Amino acid sequence: MDLGIAGKRALVCAASKGLGKGCAVALAQDGAELLILARGKEALEATAAEIRAATGAKVATLACDITTPEGRGAALAACPEPDILVTNAGGPPPGDFRAWDRDAWIKALDANMLTPIELIRQTVDGMIERRFGRIVNITSSAVKAPIDVLGLSNGARSGLTGFVAGLARRTVKHNVTINNLLPGAMDTERLRSMVAAAAKNRNLPVDAVRAERAAAIPAGRFGTADEFGAACAFLCSQQASYITGQNFLVDGGAYPGTF
Ligand code: NAD
Repeated sequence: MDLGIAGKRALVCAASKGLGKGCAVALAQDGAELLILARGKEALEATAAEIRAATGAKVATLACDITTPEGRGAALAACPEPDILVTNAGGPPPGDFRAWDRDAWIKALDANMLTPIELIRQTVDGMIERRFGRIVNITSSAVKAPIDVLGLSNGARSGLTGFVAGLARRTVKHNVTINNLLPGAMDTERLRSMVAAAAKNRNLPVDAVRAERAAAIPAGRFGTADEFGAACAFLCSQQASYITGQNFLVDGGAYPGTF
């Protein structure tokens, strides 16, 4: 299916690895021109070279921390008029809520709520003027079903979700949609390091913990960044113009609810 996004400018955040990279690859496969960013230059350049070689797409890079005002300023200077915006950043650390002081909360809110909101604020009016815009926020299945040890993520991402639910209804008549993609257990570096930490805590082999976690998912396995990227690319397509304000789980059936 031709997604109709050839030549569209896409700003994809936190995209040197994992889910952000999966989204960047899928958008490039459909002909979008990318600016990808991440904190570490080396991995970022390697990913850009890989995407260029695989797709022939134009891929610009920016090494920055998107959760800082300087990082966002540099990203918007390098890609001031994106047609497609994929917001993403590292998730907050796990822990016990008793250990989280105001600074810990502000850091989580900055990264996983206020950064995407600020990027949307600075780009959405241009999309409205050009009568095309697709915004996809990478959030978490924790928005639908809270994960006990990830309270910072549960809270910060729910704030973003509530804000987006309102705004997405105001932009859609201009062909600008805003949706959230909610990963469940996806086989990325982040997941692998969390599985390794759990294995260490329980004094079990990593493979045993991995197999146990995968078996608890109806799909019987973790998801891939490519699968996640394909869902993102569809939400960014011309065909998806009637889909806005939605929260899509990519979780292999792990969320047990009917709705
Ligand atoms: P990952 O660790 O595999 O990749 C993270 C990418 O983000 C890297 O490219 C890294 O350089 C970049 N990055 C991190 N912080 C950044 C920052 N401040 N500025 C710029 N770039 C930054 O992680 P992932 O598994 O792809 O996760 C992506 C998001 O999805 C995270 O917020 C994570 O919490 C969330 N999530 C992941 C899963 C999962 O199973 N993998 C599940 C639920 C939610």
